[in-house]
Amino acid sequence: MKNKHIKIYRKALCFAESFFCAKIQLYKKEGIMKNILVTGGAGFIGSHLCEKLLEQGNHILCLDNFFTGSRKNVEHLMDNREFELIRHDIIEPIILEVDQIYNLACPASPIHYQHNAIKTIKTNVLGVTNMLDLADETKSRILQASTSEVYGDPIVHPQKESYWGNVNPIGIRSCYDEGKRVAEALMMDYHRQHNVDIRIIRIFNTYGPRMAQNDGRVVSNFIIQALKNEDITIYGDGSQTRSFCYVDDLVRGMITLMNTEDFMGPVNVGNDGEYTILELAKMIIELANSKSKIVFKPLPSDDPTQRRPDLTLAKEKLGYEPTIHVRDGLMKTIEYFEKVI
Ligand code: NAD
Ligand code: UDP
Repeated sequence: MKNKHIKIYRKALCFAESFFCAKIQLYKKEGIMKNILVTGGAGFIGSHLCEKLLEQGNHILCLDNFFTGSRKNVEHLMDNREFELIRHDIIEPIILEVDQIYNLACPASPIHYQHNAIKTIKTNVLGVTNMLDLADETKSRILQASTSEVYGDPIVHPQKESYWGNVNPIGIRSCYDEGKRVAEALMMDYHRQHNVDIRIIRIFNTYGPRMAQNDGRVVSNFIIQALKNEDITIYGDGSQTRSFCYVDDLVRGMITLMNTEDFMGPVNVGNDGEYTILELAKMIIELANSKSKIVFKPLPSDDPTQRRPDLTLAKEKLGYEPTIHVRDGLMKTIEYFEKVI
């Protein structure tokens, strides 16, 4: 009886495998399957992007130096034969056969990008140059993960792509925001000088499952504090604003931009609901059913006072609109952190 079950199980496995292989052959034949490099693929956003691109029938090369990302973020993808994990630092050149490159490699949270500020600049200058050389060599399309930080502490509100920003070039955030501005400049120059096929996305504050517990960003900090009934630490008086985008919305916008012809951006992608940090703290306390108290700590220098994306261009060119309300996205993120902390 036991043998019979094993036989059935093996047959089912064989069938699943041949079905899977046939599907892969079909994707390859129809040119649907692409070799896609995701740098920073073991990070928060990168891991969701790898997952989605695999689901869509692509072969993924996930490259990461594991500075802020981890194998754990992509553990569930390891058994998929179309997923490869490469340990590499983009400030060193690399040759790979690819059709598309999503360049996400760069620490994103202030505590991490300020930890080794020179390395952050190198990642955005040498690293981006290496990825652009690879795109040039392989004639692949490259998408750069840029940021709302290119607008600095914005005087124009909400921020449109045509706004050039208000950035302190010598402050503690400049390794990241000036770094990302150079990265955009490099993308444009490779396009103009070498005709590299580029896409630039300006990502606004994104949150969701798999944010690192030690990330230091506001959503993960507040949720972890709320779940532990510890003090919620607001920097400054909490009147500064941000607009929070759930990771699934962002990833959809990213993939759409990559696969849209005749439009390279830069384009804002995010959620245009705007909240003060105090409102966010209160919302998280309520959703997590927490007993936490709010405490106020000093505001770090150059902390932007307001931020909200103008999404007109994203809507017009990509048909993009956020679909996940912040309360729903926060609830999903709270449920995730409940399991991991
Ligand atoms: P993250 O820190 O979770 O992911 C970054 C990943 O890049 C990590 O896995 C890290 O190990 C890897 N990495 C860093 N430097 C590298 C290097 N030199 N070589 C190879 N790998 C390297 O951050 P995230 O939130 O997932 O951000 C991903 C990208 O999106 C970043 O480029 C970030 O600037 C951009 N972005 C994120 C947000 C956001 O709110 N999360 C907002 C704007 C822009
Ligand atoms: N912030 C806060 N408490 C925290 C972490 C962050 O009040 O524990 C504030 C931070 O000063 C900033 C806002 O929340 O005004 C968003 O911070 P985050 O680092 O998440 O993103 P960024 O400043 O890069 O937009």
